[in-house]
Amino acid sequence: MTDEPLSDAAAARLRQAITAVQRDLDVIGAEIGLVGAYSGGYRIVLTDTGDFLSGEPLYADDESDALWCAASNAQALVNEFRWQVWPVCPEHDLGLHLWSAGAGPDWTLDHTDWNVPAWRCRAGKGHEVALVGELSR
Ligand SMILES: [Zn+2]
Repeated sequence: MTDEPLSDAAAARLRQAITAVQRDLDVIGAEIGLVGAYSGGYRIVLTDTGDFLSGEPLYADDESDALWCAASNAQALVNEFRWQVWPVCPEHDLGLHLWSAGAGPDWTLDHTDWNVPAWRCRAGKGHEVALVGELSR
């Protein structure tokens, strides 16, 4: 298991990102949090059960990075421990994917184009549903 030794600044960024992702999670009544681990690292957990992903490194080099990390962890936690597809496209009833906000109509993306994360649906050529943290707006 990997308990990442995040710096205090990175942990703070991750906490902020978790607050944003939590707004999206509120829809399904799930709650995540960042907790310190015995090893001195951190874990993102489902707060009601304490479940966490083992071997899933945390990263938060900047605010955008922290959002990617918090959102992908939240999605995997819900999937793995609540056996639930989340989030779901309100239009197509399909599970959404994390992708770079403002990407074109196809799924190709130059690595230099990575932006803040958004929830994107694969129906048709794909469409962006919302920025991470803004699903319920
Ligand atoms: Zn859709």
